[in-house]
Amino acid sequence: MPTKLPKTDVVVVGVGWTGGIIAAELTKQGLKVVGLERGKERTTKDYYMVHDELRYAFHYELMQDLSRETVTFRNNEQMRALPMRRYGSFLPGENLGGAGVHWNGMTFRFLPYDFQIYSKTVERYGKNKIPDGMTIQDWGITYDELEPYYDKFEKMAGISGEENPLGAKRSSPYPNPPMKETPLLTLFKQAAKSLNLHPYMSPSANLSQNYTNPDGISRVACQYCGFCERFGCEYGAKADPVVTVLPVAQKSGNFTLVTFANVLRIIHDGKTAAGVVYVDTRTGEEFEQPADIVVLTSYVLNNTRLLLLSKIGRPYDPHTGQGVIGKNYCYQTMGAAAQGFFENKQFNLFAGAGALAMCLDDFNGDNFDHSSLKFIHGANISVSQTGLRPIANNPILPGTKSWGKDFKAQSIRYANSVFSVGAQGASMPHRYHYLDLDPIYKDIYGQPLLRITFDFEDQERELVAFLGQQTEKIAKAMGADKVVTNTKLGPYNIVPYQSTHNTGGVIMGADPRTSAVNHYLQMWDMENLFVVGASAFAHNSGYNPTGTVGALAYRAAEGILKYHKNGGSLA
Ligand SMILES: Cc1cc2nc3c(=O)[nH]c(=O)nc-3n(C[C@H](O)[C@H](O)[C@H](O)COP(=O)(O)OP(=O)(O)OC[C@H]3O[C@@H](n4cnc5c(N)ncnc54)[C@H](O)[C@@H]3O)c2cc1C
Ligand code: SF4
Repeated sequence: MPTKLPKTDVVVVGVGWTGGIIAAELTKQGLKVVGLERGKERTTKDYYMVHDELRYAFHYELMQDLSRETVTFRNNEQMRALPMRRYGSFLPGENLGGAGVHWNGMTFRFLPYDFQIYSKTVERYGKNKIPDGMTIQDWGITYDELEPYYDKFEKMAGISGEENPLGAKRSSPYPNPPMKETPLLTLFKQAAKSLNLHPYMSPSANLSQNYTNPDGISRVACQYCGFCERFGCEYGAKADPVVTVLPVAQKSGNFTLVTFANVLRIIHDGKTAAGVVYVDTRTGEEFEQPADIVVLTSYVLNNTRLLLLSKIGRPYDPHTGQGVIGKNYCYQTMGAAAQGFFENKQFNLFAGAGALAMCLDDFNGDNFDHSSLKFIHGANISVSQTGLRPIANNPILPGTKSWGKDFKAQSIRYANSVFSVGAQGASMPHRYHYLDLDPIYKDIYGQPLLRITFDFEDQERELVAFLGQQTEKIAKAMGADKVVTNTKLGPYNIVPYQSTHNTGGVIMGADPRTSAVNHYLQMWDMENLFVVGASAFAHNSGYNPTGTVGALAYRAAEGILKYHKNGGSLA
């Protein structure tokens, strides 16, 4: 029997970006919050002077321990799913701050089109534009309704950026000016303008200047050290939960953090959640944490898994299309890109920052006419300068062997003379792409692993073919001597890294028959249970997700406070 602990107002499962925001917002208002995090505590000091690429970027020191828990994967139902035993396609976080510590910091807002994708697609192109099997739906919230929460997240994190010429209206400018425009980014800007496109500096959670946020948290400017993605920031210049929201929760005196606490299930009677059971990962001892309100903030994969393990909500069945838990799993469609090589031009590419980039949205969302195209949505196109770390970056021309004299000579020759114009493609949901529990494989605690069934469809292949051509035009306009373009997309492969932008599984909407949570991320089926994160996305946009994840977390916090006061369904 688990040891029963004293009851709290709210228990938060997982303390990354979403858990940190919820904890800060609720404790500020006097609620007692217990945060359960399966990993250990970390602080900025852990990263002083450790630009160790092997340790962090290749041995994944900050990521989830896959020997304890992983996911299984298959491309379709005819295949047997196998466990992901080594890191590849995506890198779930672990420890205090979650993946929010080792992210890049690209912090976009989704387009108004995203939140009403079904209605707007039908309105402009008719129902036939949506192919069989594509399960897009409106999100049950509009951009205008979410805008104040985007604003809150950006001010808390100190986002550095400039107006997107094709973006939706904002209630206030970014709290900080954009990052430094390096010569490479200027070249992209000029090329894009020469093609009548609309470039702008990517919004960045790496601070462009010293900044104090509305909570009174002060942080210093980014040093462009280049060891950003997959690393913690030794200056605290990258917004992460540990340097922004968690100090606010801790200062309130209402927050109790429990590390090494892996939540196994939610306790409930079918209508109301009563708390959670967790295991101390060091001793194996189990504890029951009772709470009036339970909030899942354990990232897309575990948000879905914990609901399925706890038998809450109706599991999605792809054959009938009924049920919602596990539905509309989406990813990010990477692949469309043009790499440019210069023979006589050098940039200082060793310097950079996780979110140092110039981008454009001319081919994103429904900003362009899709009438004659065989796909919907699009991608944010960008050139980024994240810092060329020595082990990962060996730019060579196609046809060069990946070892030996030529390889070494070209790696050195092009190290500072190469760039990539890339497209971050949207991912549309499909009837047969979903999450469920694996019938065979279990974690270290004997519980079924989450199973992912996912592949790319014609939608994604057409998108990559079209966007690859656009990236090529820009790379050529940048004057590269050689341009190598990719316009092809094979089957989804879980082995190479693509992006940690998994979405869906516990999607939001206006109708309890087709969504799991309402527009405050409150479960339709259990009013004192909130599920926060990109798990709520009904599809994934052509942007990085965390700006929208953060906005939804602020909205959910407001909903939890309302629920704590008045009870009942918020929608
Ligand atoms: C390398 C990398 C680069 C990225 N770059 C960007 C970017 O530039 N822009 C962008 O928008 N997004 C980026 N992301 C994605 C971004 O990190 C996530 O969107 C964000 O961190 C999600 O916040 P979250 O709170 O949902 O999950 P997380 O921040 O991952 O937090 C979840 C927490 O829950 C804990 N947890 C999970 N299960 C349990 C359990 N059963 N019991 C207890 N605790 C549990 C985990 O240990 C973790 O600490 C990047 C991700 C990675 C990995
Ligand atoms: S690039 Fe900037 S924000 Fe990123 S780790 Fe280095 S100093 Fe921090």
